[in-house]
Amino acid sequence: MYNRGMNQQFEKKELKKKSENLSDWYTDVILKAELADYAPVKGTMVIRPYGYALWEAIQEIFNRMMRTRGVENAYFPLFIPHSLLEKEKEHVEGFSPQLALVTIGGGEKLKDPLVVRPTSETIMYAMYAKWVHSWRDLPILINQWNNVVRWEKRTYLFLRTTEFLWQEGHTAHETEKEAIEMALSAFEWYRQVFEDYLAIPVYQGIKSAAEKFAGAKTTYTNEALMPDGKALQSATSHNLGQNFSKVFDIEFATRDGKTDYVWQTSWGLSTRVLGGLFLTHGDDNGIILPPKIAPIQIIIMPIRKKDGDAKILLARGVELRETLTNSGIRVKIDTREEPSVGRRFNEWEVKGVPVRLEVGERELASDTVVLVRRDTGEKVTVARKEIITVVQKLLNDIQKSLFHNAKKFRDDNTRDAATYDEFKNIMSSTRGFIRAFWCEDAACEAKIKEETKASIRCLPLSAKKENGTCIYCGKKAIHRWFFAQSY
Ligand SMILES: [Zn+2]
Repeated sequence: MYNRGMNQQFEKKELKKKSENLSDWYTDVILKAELADYAPVKGTMVIRPYGYALWEAIQEIFNRMMRTRGVENAYFPLFIPHSLLEKEKEHVEGFSPQLALVTIGGGEKLKDPLVVRPTSETIMYAMYAKWVHSWRDLPILINQWNNVVRWEKRTYLFLRTTEFLWQEGHTAHETEKEAIEMALSAFEWYRQVFEDYLAIPVYQGIKSAAEKFAGAKTTYTNEALMPDGKALQSATSHNLGQNFSKVFDIEFATRDGKTDYVWQTSWGLSTRVLGGLFLTHGDDNGIILPPKIAPIQIIIMPIRKKDGDAKILLARGVELRETLTNSGIRVKIDTREEPSVGRRFNEWEVKGVPVRLEVGERELASDTVVLVRRDTGEKVTVARKEIITVVQKLLNDIQKSLFHNAKKFRDDNTRDAATYDEFKNIMSSTRGFIRAFWCEDAACEAKIKEETKASIRCLPLSAKKENGTCIYCGKKAIHRWFFAQSY
Protein backbone atom coordinates (compact mmCIF):
# COMPACT_ATOMS: atom_id res chain seq x y z
CA MET A 1 0.00 0.00 0.00
CA TYR A 2 1.14 3.47 -0.76
CA ASN A 3 2.26 5.54 2.17
CA ARG A 4 2.23 9.33 1.77
CA GLY A 5 5.02 9.91 4.20
CA MET A 6 7.43 7.87 2.17
CA ASN A 7 7.37 9.79 -1.06
CA GLN A 8 10.30 12.01 -0.20
CA GLN A 9 12.63 9.03 -0.12
CA PHE A 10 11.95 7.77 -3.62
CA GLU A 11 14.69 8.08 -6.18
CA LYS A 12 15.83 11.56 -5.14
CA LYS A 13 19.42 10.42 -5.32
CA GLU A 14 19.16 10.14 -9.09
CA LEU A 15 19.24 13.89 -9.64
CA LYS A 16 22.47 15.79 -9.07
CA LYS A 17 22.24 18.36 -6.31
CA LYS A 18 21.91 22.06 -7.10
CA SER A 19 23.30 22.88 -3.67
CA GLU A 20 26.50 20.98 -4.47
CA ASN A 21 27.32 21.79 -8.08
CA LEU A 22 25.19 24.22 -10.04
CA SER A 23 26.57 23.40 -13.43
CA ASP A 24 26.27 19.60 -13.09
CA TRP A 25 22.76 19.98 -11.70
CA TYR A 26 21.78 22.31 -14.53
CA THR A 27 22.71 19.89 -17.30
CA ASP A 28 21.27 16.94 -15.43
CA VAL A 29 17.94 18.58 -14.70
CA ILE A 30 17.47 19.80 -18.27
CA LEU A 31 17.95 16.29 -19.58
CA LYS A 32 15.84 14.63 -16.86
CA ALA A 33 13.00 17.14 -17.02
CA GLU A 34 12.96 16.48 -20.78
CA LEU A 35 13.42 20.13 -21.64
CA ALA A 36 16.16 19.56 -24.21
CA ASP A 37 18.66 16.99 -25.43
CA TYR A 38 22.02 17.01 -27.18
CA ALA A 39 21.82 16.79 -30.98
CA PRO A 40 24.29 15.08 -33.35
CA VAL A 41 26.12 18.32 -34.28
CA LYS A 42 28.25 19.50 -31.38
CA GLY A 43 26.91 22.68 -29.83
CA THR A 44 23.37 22.17 -31.08
CA MET A 45 20.41 20.89 -29.10
CA VAL A 46 16.91 19.57 -29.54
CA ILE A 47 14.27 21.50 -27.63
CA ARG A 48 11.80 18.86 -26.48
CA PRO A 49 8.03 19.50 -26.23
CA TYR A 50 8.08 20.47 -22.54
CA GLY A 51 10.86 22.99 -23.15
CA TYR A 52 9.29 24.20 -26.37
CA ALA A 53 5.97 24.82 -24.60
CA LEU A 54 7.81 27.38 -22.48
CA TRP A 55 9.15 29.08 -25.58
CA GLU A 56 5.66 29.10 -27.08
CA ALA A 57 4.33 30.73 -23.92
CA ILE A 58 6.96 33.46 -24.24
CA GLN A 59 6.04 33.92 -27.90
CA GLU A 60 2.41 34.35 -26.99
CA ILE A 61 3.18 36.92 -24.30
CA PHE A 62 5.60 38.85 -26.47
CA ASN A 63 3.38 38.83 -29.57
CA ARG A 64 0.68 40.41 -27.45
CA MET A 65 3.09 43.12 -26.29
CA MET A 66 4.35 43.85 -29.79
CA ARG A 67 0.81 44.26 -31.11
CA THR A 68 0.28 47.16 -28.69
CA ARG A 69 2.66 49.19 -30.88
CA GLY A 70 1.59 47.67 -34.18
CA VAL A 71 4.68 45.49 -34.69
CA GLU A 72 3.93 42.67 -37.17
CA ASN A 73 5.59 39.30 -37.71
CA ALA A 74 7.25 38.38 -41.01
CA TYR A 75 9.93 36.03 -42.25
CA PHE A 76 13.23 36.68 -44.03
CA PRO A 77 15.58 34.06 -45.54
CA LEU A 78 18.12 32.04 -43.58
CA PHE A 79 20.89 32.70 -46.15
CA ILE A 80 22.55 36.09 -46.41
CA PRO A 81 25.02 36.90 -49.21
CA HIS A 82 28.39 37.44 -47.56
CA SER A 83 28.82 40.65 -49.55
CA LEU A 84 25.71 42.11 -47.86
CA LEU A 85 27.05 41.38 -44.42
CA GLU A 86 30.35 43.05 -45.26
CA LYS A 87 28.65 46.36 -46.00
CA GLU A 88 28.57 47.50 -42.38
CA LYS A 89 32.18 47.25 -41.26
CA GLU A 90 31.75 47.25 -37.50
CA HIS A 91 28.89 44.77 -37.81
CA VAL A 92 30.81 42.19 -39.85
CA GLU A 93 33.85 42.50 -37.57
CA GLY A 94 31.63 41.83 -34.57
CA PHE A 95 30.31 38.63 -36.04
CA SER A 96 33.03 37.25 -38.32
CA PRO A 97 34.60 34.77 -35.85
CA GLN A 98 31.20 33.17 -35.33
CA LEU A 99 29.97 32.90 -38.91
CA ALA A 100 28.92 29.68 -40.59
CA LEU A 101 29.53 29.97 -44.33
CA VAL A 102 27.99 27.98 -47.16
CA THR A 103 30.49 27.83 -50.01
CA ILE A 104 29.02 25.00 -52.09
CA GLY A 105 25.43 24.83 -53.29
CA GLY A 106 23.94 22.31 -55.70
CA GLY A 107 27.35 20.76 -56.15
CA GLU A 108 28.94 24.02 -57.37
CA LYS A 109 31.23 26.47 -55.70
CA LEU A 110 29.32 29.67 -54.98
CA LYS A 111 30.71 32.98 -56.28
CA ASP A 112 29.35 34.90 -53.31
CA PRO A 113 29.39 32.56 -50.29
CA LEU A 114 26.27 32.54 -48.17
CA VAL A 115 26.24 33.27 -44.48
CA VAL A 116 23.83 31.36 -42.29
CA ARG A 117 22.21 34.32 -40.51
CA PRO A 118 23.81 35.27 -37.19
CA THR A 119 21.19 38.09 -37.03
CA SER A 120 19.17 39.67 -39.84
CA GLU A 121 19.98 43.39 -39.94
CA THR A 122 21.73 43.22 -43.27
CA ILE A 123 19.23 41.14 -45.23
CA MET A 124 16.25 42.96 -43.79
CA TYR A 125 17.68 46.40 -44.42
CA ALA A 126 18.54 45.55 -48.02
CA MET A 127 14.80 44.93 -48.39
CA TYR A 128 13.83 48.03 -46.42
CA ALA A 129 15.87 50.10 -48.88
CA LYS A 130 13.66 48.71 -51.62
CA TRP A 131 10.43 49.40 -49.76
CA VAL A 132 11.03 52.86 -48.32
CA HIS A 133 10.78 55.93 -50.56
CA SER A 134 8.82 58.52 -48.66
CA TRP A 135 7.87 59.34 -45.10
CA ARG A 136 4.52 57.75 -45.97
CA ASP A 137 6.26 54.35 -46.06
CA LEU A 138 7.32 54.76 -42.43
CA PRO A 139 7.45 53.47 -39.82
CA ILE A 140 8.36 49.90 -40.70
CA LEU A 141 7.63 47.73 -37.66
CA ILE A 142 8.65 44.14 -38.33
CA ASN A 143 9.59 41.27 -36.09
CA GLN A 144 10.58 37.75 -36.96
CA TRP A 145 10.71 34.59 -34.88
CA ASN A 146 13.49 32.45 -36.24
CA ASN A 147 16.71 30.57 -35.62
CA VAL A 148 20.21 32.03 -35.91
CA VAL A 149 23.67 30.48 -35.97
CA ARG A 150 26.73 31.79 -34.16
CA TRP A 151 29.55 29.29 -34.03
CA GLU A 152 30.48 28.62 -30.42
CA LYS A 153 33.52 26.76 -29.13
CA ARG A 154 32.23 26.20 -25.63
CA THR A 155 28.53 25.43 -25.45
CA TYR A 156 26.01 25.05 -22.67
CA LEU A 157 22.39 23.89 -23.09
CA PHE A 158 20.10 26.91 -23.67
CA LEU A 159 22.69 29.42 -22.41
CA ARG A 160 25.14 29.13 -25.26
CA THR A 161 24.40 27.00 -28.30
CA THR A 162 25.62 27.36 -31.87
CA GLU A 163 22.05 27.54 -33.14
CA PHE A 164 19.37 29.21 -31.07
CA LEU A 165 15.83 30.51 -31.41
CA TRP A 166 14.86 34.11 -30.87
CA GLN A 167 12.77 37.00 -32.01
CA GLU A 168 14.43 39.90 -33.75
CA GLY A 169 12.49 43.13 -34.12
CA HIS A 170 13.67 45.63 -36.74
CA THR A 171 12.05 48.98 -37.12
CA ALA A 172 12.65 52.07 -39.26
CA HIS A 173 11.41 55.56 -38.38
CA GLU A 174 11.27 59.13 -39.60
CA THR A 175 12.92 60.58 -36.51
CA GLU A 176 15.47 59.51 -33.95
CA LYS A 177 13.04 60.39 -31.17
CA GLU A 178 10.54 57.89 -32.51
CA ALA A 179 13.26 55.23 -32.90
CA ILE A 180 14.44 55.73 -29.31
CA GLU A 181 10.86 55.42 -28.07
CA MET A 182 10.56 52.13 -29.95
CA ALA A 183 13.85 50.78 -28.59
CA LEU A 184 12.75 51.72 -25.08
CA SER A 185 9.35 50.05 -25.51
CA ALA A 186 10.95 46.76 -26.48
CA PHE A 187 13.33 47.18 -23.56
CA GLU A 188 10.36 47.60 -21.21
CA TRP A 189 8.54 44.59 -22.71
CA TYR A 190 11.60 42.51 -21.95
CA ARG A 191 11.59 43.69 -18.36
CA GLN A 192 7.96 42.63 -18.08
CA VAL A 193 8.70 39.20 -19.58
CA PHE A 194 11.48 38.70 -17.06
CA GLU A 195 10.02 40.15 -13.92
CA ASP A 196 6.27 39.63 -14.34
CA TYR A 197 6.28 36.23 -16.02
CA LEU A 198 9.63 34.50 -15.44
CA ALA A 199 9.99 35.99 -11.95
CA ILE A 200 13.59 37.01 -12.70
CA PRO A 201 14.55 40.50 -11.49
CA VAL A 202 16.70 42.50 -13.90
CA TYR A 203 18.86 45.58 -13.80
CA GLN A 204 18.12 47.77 -16.78
CA GLY A 205 20.80 49.92 -18.25
CA ILE A 206 22.95 50.82 -21.23
CA LYS A 207 26.06 49.00 -22.42
CA SER A 208 29.53 50.47 -22.53
CA ALA A 209 30.97 51.20 -25.99
CA ALA A 210 33.00 48.00 -25.92
CA GLU A 211 30.06 45.81 -24.89
CA LYS A 212 27.40 47.28 -27.15
CA PHE A 213 26.01 45.57 -30.25
CA ALA A 214 28.28 45.81 -33.28
CA GLY A 215 26.87 48.70 -35.30
CA ALA A 216 24.56 50.14 -32.64
CA LYS A 217 24.59 53.67 -31.30
CA THR A 218 23.16 52.66 -27.93
CA THR A 219 22.46 49.19 -26.54
CA TYR A 220 19.92 48.82 -23.75
CA THR A 221 20.33 45.65 -21.74
CA ASN A 222 18.53 43.62 -19.07
CA GLU A 223 20.95 41.95 -16.69
CA ALA A 224 19.94 39.15 -14.34
CA LEU A 225 21.98 37.49 -11.61
CA MET A 226 22.33 33.71 -11.55
CA PRO A 227 22.77 31.68 -8.34
CA ASP A 228 26.53 31.30 -8.90
CA GLY A 229 26.95 35.07 -8.83
CA LYS A 230 27.36 35.46 -12.58
CA ALA A 231 25.29 37.83 -14.66
CA LEU A 232 23.18 36.73 -17.57
CA GLN A 233 22.58 39.28 -20.32
CA SER A 234 19.02 38.46 -21.03
CA ALA A 235 17.64 40.61 -23.83
CA THR A 236 18.93 43.70 -25.56
CA SER A 237 17.41 46.52 -27.53
CA HIS A 238 19.44 48.77 -29.80
CA ASN A 239 19.13 52.30 -31.09
CA LEU A 240 20.94 51.88 -34.40
CA GLY A 241 20.78 55.56 -35.27
CA GLN A 242 21.46 55.94 -39.00
CA ASN A 243 24.46 53.60 -38.98
CA PHE A 244 22.79 50.94 -41.10
CA SER A 245 20.47 53.14 -43.14
CA LYS A 246 23.44 55.11 -44.48
CA VAL A 247 25.21 51.91 -45.50
CA PHE A 248 22.10 50.28 -46.97
CA ASP A 249 20.76 53.47 -48.54
CA ILE A 250 17.45 53.47 -46.77
CA GLU A 251 16.63 57.00 -47.84
CA PHE A 252 13.27 58.70 -47.79
CA ALA A 253 11.62 61.95 -48.85
CA THR A 254 10.80 63.85 -45.66
CA ARG A 255 7.60 65.78 -44.98
CA ASP A 256 9.33 69.03 -45.89
CA GLY A 257 10.59 67.79 -49.24
CA LYS A 258 14.17 66.94 -48.25
CA THR A 259 15.80 63.52 -48.15
CA ASP A 260 17.03 61.77 -45.04
CA TYR A 261 18.13 58.34 -43.90
CA VAL A 262 15.74 56.40 -41.67
CA TRP A 263 16.35 55.97 -37.95
CA GLN A 264 16.41 52.33 -36.87
CA THR A 265 16.13 49.95 -33.97
CA SER A 266 16.67 46.24 -33.49
CA TRP A 267 15.94 44.14 -30.42
CA GLY A 268 16.12 40.47 -29.53
CA LEU A 269 15.10 37.94 -26.92
CA SER A 270 16.38 34.38 -27.25
CA THR A 271 15.87 30.88 -25.87
CA ARG A 272 18.79 31.76 -23.62
CA VAL A 273 16.25 33.23 -21.19
CA LEU A 274 14.98 29.71 -20.56
CA GLY A 275 18.44 28.79 -19.29
CA GLY A 276 18.20 31.75 -16.93
CA LEU A 277 14.77 30.59 -15.82
CA PHE A 278 15.97 27.08 -14.95
CA LEU A 279 19.04 28.34 -13.11
CA THR A 280 17.16 30.95 -11.11
CA HIS A 281 14.34 29.01 -9.51
CA GLY A 282 15.38 25.38 -9.17
CA ASP A 283 16.40 23.37 -6.12
CA ASP A 284 17.82 19.93 -5.36
CA ASN A 285 14.54 18.36 -6.50
CA GLY A 286 14.50 19.93 -9.94
CA ILE A 287 13.44 23.10 -11.71
CA ILE A 288 10.61 25.27 -10.37
CA LEU A 289 8.44 27.00 -12.92
CA PRO A 290 6.68 30.27 -12.11
CA PRO A 291 2.93 29.59 -12.52
CA LYS A 292 2.45 32.33 -15.11
CA ILE A 293 4.77 30.58 -17.55
CA ALA A 294 4.35 26.92 -16.52
CA PRO A 295 2.88 24.75 -19.32
CA ILE A 296 1.27 22.65 -16.56
CA GLN A 297 0.28 24.64 -13.48
CA ILE A 298 -1.31 21.77 -11.59
CA ILE A 299 -0.68 18.08 -11.86
CA ILE A 300 -3.64 16.07 -10.61
CA MET A 301 -2.71 12.73 -9.09
CA PRO A 302 -5.42 10.27 -8.17
CA ILE A 303 -3.86 8.04 -5.52
CA ARG A 304 -5.33 4.63 -5.26
CA LYS A 305 -4.88 2.17 -2.44
CA LYS A 306 -4.07 -1.34 -3.56
CA ASP A 307 -7.66 -2.55 -3.30
CA GLY A 308 -9.30 0.84 -3.90
CA ASP A 309 -11.75 1.65 -6.62
CA ALA A 310 -9.78 3.13 -9.48
CA LYS A 311 -12.84 4.18 -11.45
CA ILE A 312 -14.30 6.49 -8.80
CA LEU A 313 -10.94 8.14 -8.16
CA LEU A 314 -10.29 8.66 -11.82
CA ALA A 315 -13.77 10.12 -12.29
CA ARG A 316 -13.05 12.59 -9.47
CA GLY A 317 -9.71 13.48 -11.06
CA VAL A 318 -11.37 14.14 -14.41
CA GLU A 319 -14.05 16.22 -12.73
CA LEU A 320 -11.40 18.32 -10.99
CA ARG A 321 -9.55 18.77 -14.26
CA GLU A 322 -12.72 20.10 -15.84
CA THR A 323 -13.46 22.50 -12.99
CA LEU A 324 -9.92 23.88 -13.01
CA THR A 325 -9.62 24.05 -16.80
CA ASN A 326 -12.87 25.98 -16.98
CA SER A 327 -11.31 28.59 -14.72
CA GLY A 328 -8.40 29.01 -17.11
CA ILE A 329 -5.91 26.96 -15.11
CA ARG A 330 -3.51 24.73 -17.05
CA VAL A 331 -3.97 21.22 -15.68
CA LYS A 332 -2.81 17.73 -16.43
CA ILE A 333 -3.94 14.50 -14.86
CA ASP A 334 -1.51 11.67 -14.23
CA THR A 335 -3.50 8.46 -14.62
CA ARG A 336 -0.55 6.13 -15.04
CA GLU A 337 -0.39 2.92 -13.05
CA GLU A 338 3.37 2.76 -13.44
CA PRO A 339 5.87 3.80 -12.19
CA SER A 340 5.12 4.01 -8.48
CA VAL A 341 3.37 7.06 -7.05
CA GLY A 342 6.53 8.24 -5.32
CA ARG A 343 8.49 8.06 -8.51
CA ARG A 344 5.81 9.95 -10.39
CA PHE A 345 5.80 12.64 -7.67
CA ASN A 346 9.49 13.04 -8.30
CA GLU A 347 9.06 13.28 -12.04
CA TRP A 348 6.67 16.22 -11.69
CA GLU A 349 8.92 17.83 -9.11
CA VAL A 350 11.91 17.57 -11.45
CA LYS A 351 9.76 19.21 -14.13
CA GLY A 352 8.90 22.03 -11.74
CA VAL A 353 5.10 21.87 -11.92
CA PRO A 354 4.05 24.55 -9.38
CA VAL A 355 1.29 22.59 -7.61
CA ARG A 356 0.49 18.92 -7.13
CA LEU A 357 -3.10 18.04 -6.40
CA GLU A 358 -3.60 14.70 -4.67
CA VAL A 359 -6.88 12.94 -4.34
CA GLY A 360 -7.22 9.59 -2.58
CA GLU A 361 -9.84 7.58 -0.70
CA ARG A 362 -9.63 9.91 2.29
CA GLU A 363 -10.22 13.01 0.19
CA LEU A 364 -13.01 11.31 -1.69
CA ALA A 365 -14.76 10.53 1.60
CA SER A 366 -14.37 14.05 2.98
CA ASP A 367 -14.91 15.85 -0.34
CA THR A 368 -11.52 17.52 -0.14
CA VAL A 369 -8.25 17.59 -2.09
CA VAL A 370 -4.65 17.95 -0.98
CA LEU A 371 -2.54 20.68 -2.60
CA VAL A 372 1.26 20.57 -2.41
CA ARG A 373 3.44 23.56 -3.33
CA ARG A 374 6.48 22.73 -5.43
CA ASP A 375 8.55 25.65 -4.12
CA THR A 376 8.09 25.14 -0.36
CA GLY A 377 6.68 21.60 -0.13
CA GLU A 378 3.82 23.00 1.98
CA LYS A 379 0.67 20.87 2.02
CA VAL A 380 -2.91 22.01 2.53
CA THR A 381 -6.19 20.13 2.58
CA VAL A 382 -8.93 22.08 0.88
CA ALA A 383 -12.69 21.58 0.59
CA ARG A 384 -13.51 20.77 -3.02
CA LYS A 385 -16.00 23.60 -3.34
CA GLU A 386 -13.30 26.14 -2.48
CA ILE A 387 -10.73 24.78 -4.84
CA ILE A 388 -10.75 27.52 -7.50
CA THR A 389 -10.25 30.36 -5.04
CA VAL A 390 -7.54 28.53 -3.13
CA VAL A 391 -5.68 27.41 -6.24
CA GLN A 392 -5.70 30.87 -7.79
CA LYS A 393 -4.36 32.39 -4.61
CA LEU A 394 -1.75 29.66 -4.30
CA LEU A 395 -0.48 30.15 -7.86
CA ASN A 396 -0.31 33.86 -7.25
CA ASP A 397 1.62 33.37 -4.01
CA ILE A 398 4.12 31.04 -5.67
CA GLN A 399 4.70 33.53 -8.50
CA LYS A 400 5.31 36.34 -6.01
CA SER A 401 7.44 34.28 -3.70
CA LEU A 402 9.74 33.09 -6.52
CA PHE A 403 10.29 36.68 -7.63
CA HIS A 404 10.78 37.86 -4.07
CA ASN A 405 13.42 35.21 -3.36
CA ALA A 406 15.28 35.89 -6.60
CA LYS A 407 15.20 39.62 -5.95
CA LYS A 408 16.46 39.22 -2.41
CA PHE A 409 19.34 37.12 -3.66
CA ARG A 410 20.12 39.68 -6.38
CA ASP A 411 19.95 42.61 -3.96
CA ASP A 412 22.04 40.82 -1.33
CA ASN A 413 24.62 40.17 -4.01
CA THR A 414 24.87 43.69 -5.35
CA ARG A 415 27.71 45.49 -3.62
CA ASP A 416 29.54 48.78 -3.79
CA ALA A 417 33.29 48.67 -4.13
CA ALA A 418 35.26 51.75 -3.16
CA THR A 419 38.72 50.41 -3.95
CA TYR A 420 40.11 48.04 -6.55
CA ASP A 421 41.27 45.67 -3.78
CA GLU A 422 37.75 45.47 -2.48
CA PHE A 423 36.56 44.87 -6.04
CA LYS A 424 39.00 42.00 -6.53
CA ASN A 425 38.09 40.43 -3.21
CA ILE A 426 34.41 40.38 -4.07
CA MET A 427 35.03 38.99 -7.54
CA SER A 428 37.20 36.18 -6.24
CA SER A 429 34.76 35.19 -3.48
CA THR A 430 31.02 35.84 -3.62
CA ARG A 431 30.96 37.46 -7.10
CA GLY A 432 27.58 39.07 -7.87
CA PHE A 433 27.12 42.61 -9.14
CA ILE A 434 29.54 45.33 -8.13
CA ARG A 435 28.69 49.02 -8.41
CA ALA A 436 31.82 51.05 -8.95
CA PHE A 437 33.08 54.28 -10.51
CA TRP A 438 34.65 53.90 -13.93
CA CYS A 439 36.26 56.64 -16.00
CA GLU A 440 34.70 55.33 -19.24
CA ASP A 441 38.07 54.64 -20.78
CA ALA A 442 38.05 51.31 -22.65
CA ALA A 443 41.61 50.58 -21.51
CA CYS A 444 40.55 50.44 -17.83
CA GLU A 445 37.55 48.31 -18.74
CA ALA A 446 39.77 45.84 -20.59
CA LYS A 447 42.29 45.66 -17.74
CA ILE A 448 39.60 45.04 -15.15
CA LYS A 449 38.16 42.27 -17.28
CA GLU A 450 41.57 40.70 -17.80
CA GLU A 451 42.43 40.79 -14.09
CA THR A 452 39.06 39.87 -12.53
CA LYS A 453 37.03 38.31 -15.39
CA ALA A 454 34.39 40.94 -14.59
CA SER A 455 33.01 42.95 -17.46
CA ILE A 456 30.88 46.04 -17.44
CA ARG A 457 27.27 44.89 -17.50
CA CYS A 458 25.53 48.24 -17.69
CA LEU A 459 25.05 51.79 -16.54
CA PRO A 460 21.64 51.73 -14.86
CA LEU A 461 19.09 54.04 -16.45
CA SER A 462 18.45 55.44 -13.00
CA ALA A 463 22.14 56.31 -12.37
CA LYS A 464 22.77 59.86 -11.20
CA LYS A 465 25.80 61.96 -11.96
CA GLU A 466 28.26 61.90 -9.07
CA ASN A 467 31.80 63.00 -8.37
CA GLY A 468 34.05 59.99 -8.09
CA THR A 469 37.31 58.46 -9.19
CA CYS A 470 37.79 55.43 -11.44
CA ILE A 471 38.20 52.24 -9.45
CA TYR A 472 41.11 51.24 -11.69
CA CYS A 473 43.07 54.34 -12.72
CA GLY A 474 41.90 56.91 -10.16
CA LYS A 475 40.93 59.47 -12.80
CA LYS A 476 37.73 61.44 -12.62
CA ALA A 477 34.55 59.38 -13.01
CA ILE A 478 30.97 60.58 -12.98
CA HIS A 479 29.00 57.36 -12.87
CA ARG A 480 28.90 54.12 -10.93
CA TRP A 481 28.65 51.25 -13.44
CA PHE A 482 27.57 47.67 -12.77
CA PHE A 483 30.27 45.03 -13.15
CA ALA A 484 29.96 41.25 -13.00
CA GLN A 485 31.39 38.08 -14.38
CA SER A 486 29.01 36.80 -16.98
CA TYR A 487 27.78 33.78 -18.88
ZN1 LIG B 1 39.93 54.44 -15.39
